[in-house]
Amino acid sequence: MSSTSPIVGIDLGTTNSLIGAMDAGFPILLADAEDERLTPSVVHFPSTGEPLVGRAAARMRALDPANTVYSAKRLIGRRGGEATDDVSYALVGERGAAVRVQVRGREYAPEEISALVLKKLRADAGRALGGEVTRAVITVPAYFNDAQRQATKRAGELAGFTVERIVNEPTAAALAYGLDKLGDRSKVAVFDLGGGTFDISILELNQGVFQVLSTNGDTRLGGDDIDAALIADFRLRISDLVPEADARLREALVAAKHRLSFEDETRIELPFFTGAESLVRTLTRAELERVARPIVERTRAHCLRALHDAKLSPADLDEVILVGGQTRMPLVRDFVRAIFQREPNVSQNPDEAVALGATIQAGILSGAVQNVVLLDVTPLSLGIETFGGLMNVIIPRNSTIPIKAGEMFTNAVAGQRAMLIKVVQGERELVRDNWPLGEFELEFEPAPKGHARVGVQFEIDASGILHVLARDTKTGAQKVVEMTSAVDVSDEAVEKMLEESLEHAFEDMSDRVFVEAKLKSDELLPAVRQALAQAGPELDTDELALIAQRVAEVEAALAAGAGQPLKRANTALDEATQRLATLLIERALRVS
Ligand code: ADP
Ligand code: MG
Repeated sequence: MSSTSPIVGIDLGTTNSLIGAMDAGFPILLADAEDERLTPSVVHFPSTGEPLVGRAAARMRALDPANTVYSAKRLIGRRGGEATDDVSYALVGERGAAVRVQVRGREYAPEEISALVLKKLRADAGRALGGEVTRAVITVPAYFNDAQRQATKRAGELAGFTVERIVNEPTAAALAYGLDKLGDRSKVAVFDLGGGTFDISILELNQGVFQVLSTNGDTRLGGDDIDAALIADFRLRISDLVPEADARLREALVAAKHRLSFEDETRIELPFFTGAESLVRTLTRAELERVARPIVERTRAHCLRALHDAKLSPADLDEVILVGGQTRMPLVRDFVRAIFQREPNVSQNPDEAVALGATIQAGILSGAVQNVVLLDVTPLSLGIETFGGLMNVIIPRNSTIPIKAGEMFTNAVAGQRAMLIKVVQGERELVRDNWPLGEFELEFEPAPKGHARVGVQFEIDASGILHVLARDTKTGAQKVVEMTSAVDVSDEAVEKMLEESLEHAFEDMSDRVFVEAKLKSDELLPAVRQALAQAGPELDTDELALIAQRVAEVEAALAAGAGQPLKRANTALDEATQRLATLLIERALRVS
């Protein structure tokens, strides 16, 4: 290797994490001291001494659940007061504040827990490569928003890495499956069902470049849900279960779930399970599938929506690849086969594909791999608030990143000295229905209404992090702000946002019509009043009465909050005041 330090690729998973590096031009995954490549993303805090990470911590999960933290990735970006997972350790967080983990009287941010996992991977890699490792590529679910990406980057930095790039998991997986070797314009679906997240992405290969046509998914859907359903179902059939037995039962059932991917039935044996009694049961694949089916079924709608967004039908796809340990389950493969009407590609180890791809991406960055460029897309639209609380989209949803886009804005009020740039994410027409990402003020020279010229530019870098630039084009004064404030996004929230935007499309349109019509009325009414004061006496009584009636209609529609009627009333008032407007112009000409 060259004198510069190598870049490692890391899959920081909800359930399991892996690390890899390029070796003689090949991506390889690195094993730890116990010769294992999969590291459970679990941290145990003993009463004294350093925290345990990985397999050692996972073993403590059953023995000391309150001091063993798992699935921390699910908490990244989560706020207090939202529905939280039923975890065995304590969570704290005031309503609206970031959720924190509480163990042994100390509080940790979720990314601090992730940092401990990354630190272990870093140490393992250092041992395997024989030197300090300081640069990394880390993957995140495609649905992670800006704040969650930032938090992941922070986790990497806390672990001592310079994070060279944040990459979407499905995109990394596509690289690992060697899709760059497919023919030009090939289209591929990446189906990733892990422990905690589900992602579906549609990619197109374009002259050696991966382009993500669409992404969809649910960051709260995965093997964990199947485990929970299996445990609940199983408990119904065992009487008088003591709570301490829960953790042991879980371990046994998850192991049974794994075996049932390869066997038709399996035995569950728990010695001395309820006091002196041992528990021995047979679990069949059919029984597992009965509880898992409704959960796996939830992936279908996301797949269909991703196809729809990419404007493709299943027949247009050239390949479907499987990613995530849970896709080992035959039932999942049946679903994928049915939805996409083709045999899925299973040539890679599904729980290693993301890490392998992250490693290839690391190789691309360090120059060890050439001829591939990765492109990703934005999961939700980004924009700013304009007059009347309307969302003005600057970067639409599913745009390919990195991307730069901008628009010019002006002042709504004469003499205004500053403009508030409110950055918002979401699909709804009104800003109040979307998520605020942050806001800042740009000062400019006072100007008559509509004369200020403020350019606003959004730039999303290759890691999916948003930078907002606002510039007064007259003076050149500008501000650049990186959006770091945490977004109020629970895991289902992105999904809900998309559903609501469809559900409320009609309402939203009429809201938008009303807001726009009201802006027009707000200009029209004072203008008519002023014109009447100046040239009113020159009109006859019929004309004056008609104008008064039209004004009353506009006011009534305003009060009723009705968009279309207000629009019509504005037009009618405009027409009724035509002659008044002409008179005013004539007077102006006479005067001068
Ligand atoms: P993540 O990306 O969330 O860290 P992984 O890709 O490592 O997750 O997948 C973990 C999930 O895969 C867990 O729910 C685990 O139970 C499940 N899993 C692992 N192996 C198997 C298997 N042989 N059959 C069924 N599910 C499996
Ligand atoms: Mg994963």
